Amino acid sequence: MEKIVALCKRRGFIFQNSEIYGGQNGFWDYGPLGTELKRNVRDSWYHDMVAAHNELVAPESAPSKYQMVGVETSLIMHPQVWKCSGHYDLFHDMMVDCRETKSRFRLDQIRCRTVRFEGETVKQDGTEATLDRVMVTSTAEDFEQDLTDQALKAFGKKKKYADRLQWEGDVSTLDKVDVEQFANVVAPGATKAGTLTAPREFNLMMKTIIGALGTDDDAAFLRPETAQGIFVNFKNVVDSSRVKLPFGICQVGKSFRNEITPRNFTFRSREFEQMEIEFFCRPDESAGWYKYWRDRRYQWYLDLGVSQDRLILRDHHAEELAHYSVGTADIEYAFPFLDEGEFGELEGVAHRGDFDLRSHMEGKLARNADGDLAVELNDDGKPKHRGSGKDLTYFDDQAKERFLPHVIEPSAGADRATLAFICEAYHEDQQPDEKGKMQERVVMQFHPRLAPVKAAVFPLIKKEGMPEKAAEVFGALKAAGLSCQYDQQGAIGRRYRRQDEIGTPYCITIDGDTMQDDTVTIRDRDSLEQTRISVQDVVAEVTGRLGSV
Ligand code: ATP
Repeated sequence: MEKIVALCKRRGFIFQNSEIYGGQNGFWDYGPLGTELKRNVRDSWYHDMVAAHNELVAPESAPSKYQMVGVETSLIMHPQVWKCSGHYDLFHDMMVDCRETKSRFRLDQIRCRTVRFEGETVKQDGTEATLDRVMVTSTAEDFEQDLTDQALKAFGKKKKYADRLQWEGDVSTLDKVDVEQFANVVAPGATKAGTLTAPREFNLMMKTIIGALGTDDDAAFLRPETAQGIFVNFKNVVDSSRVKLPFGICQVGKSFRNEITPRNFTFRSREFEQMEIEFFCRPDESAGWYKYWRDRRYQWYLDLGVSQDRLILRDHHAEELAHYSVGTADIEYAFPFLDEGEFGELEGVAHRGDFDLRSHMEGKLARNADGDLAVELNDDGKPKHRGSGKDLTYFDDQAKERFLPHVIEPSAGADRATLAFICEAYHEDQQPDEKGKMQERVVMQFHPRLAPVKAAVFPLIKKEGMPEKAAEVFGALKAAGLSCQYDQQGAIGRRYRRQDEIGTPYCITIDGDTMQDDTVTIRDRDSLEQTRISVQDVVAEVTGRLGSV
């Protein structure tokens, strides 16, 4: 991962935000090549999901034909949107800090269990006191082993004494433990007990004030997802664009979350971009559409070059599902910063039922005592958060029925996808240089559709008319809308290596023969094969090899 991060900075893919001022945690900037790459990711998504979708023919695995349209909605929305969507009430986490390790944890992610070791004690933070019974904690995947290791460490015992630990109660999570008992807790990675602060609540939505003279009463939130802009415009789209069920509304745009621990390069940022589809269908057809979108979105990453052994489609267990969801699957990638066998989410595909449209119509929904979704009420019997009161139902004029459509939501992150494509592309190999000596080569094997630079043009030498001829070829490629680089600096092998390192699929060299017979060589980044083609065929050859972009 360090090599990838270094390459991203060195070659201008991704920079730390505000780096000259020491950086701003959780924010990233894309350099010239990163901008092209991320634009290609976004464009490929929009092209494949919306622009190139043929609404007159049902794709092979789809339950029927369907339509796709796009919207672009604003970053700030009416505060009531977040109350009805559930973000206002639910989008917060309880956090604790450890004074010893300076780490921050989500309370519900810390596993804990009480333990003693006959006759031994553990030091307590800030006092001379020792404790004969402590609560050890872990955030590790393999928490059983980790809890044992931490207990032995806390009591200063070697591994062979593990069976003399006296455990009390079952493994639990720290959110179930009374704050009064925190003095006995040995935080993850800490050596003393009682180093955790009292839990504090963090709202993940970013607040801003509207109006130059605004006060806290005018607070609004930067959207934490693009989806709500689609739901609140559902009726506008139906009324204005003649779409008929089933259809999808798509949006690409920035979202903001006050992530508590931004980490793993761009994977968890506070400002990021999403590519979301809300697909509306008849309730009785929703199970088939859920399956279609789950498989379709998984295949999309494979088609763009992600290898199947690093990409999984993971169905959520029932207890993992959001309270409204009938089914959710995550598309996950084995990022190199994760441990062996671990995967990080690229995209979630959720069956959301009619939760969103109904909440915006009637008021925020929650499960009632019978387990049904119903408008959540205050003690006085009034809705906790009022809906818009607008009719968001759909009239199916063939079935002559009025109902609330169900929604399937494939929600992808543009930055996480871009990072996965970068990680996937990174390869090192050995190639002979001009003198036949083996040299280490770094090559970014981007899918040609995603490659930030499609072709590079080199005059072999800086004279004999070659730069002029190269400029002509370069100009023709640019005029065809292809992102290209021109390089006349250094030995040809070095120029190839510079392009390999940024993943340019094709390099075109103008040499002595070009001046005789008007042909050039075109070299393929992956096969390293060089072929001679006529100058006038260069644009057609490159675009043909790139395929549809
Ligand atoms: P996580 O569990 O990793 O926090 P999530 O389940 O909250 O993610 P969703 O709300 O489903 O994420 O958002 C949809 C997609 O948006 C994610 O699959 C991811 O690609 C992207 N995304 C969400 N949060 C972030 C973030 N902090 N930084 C970058 N991308 C993000």
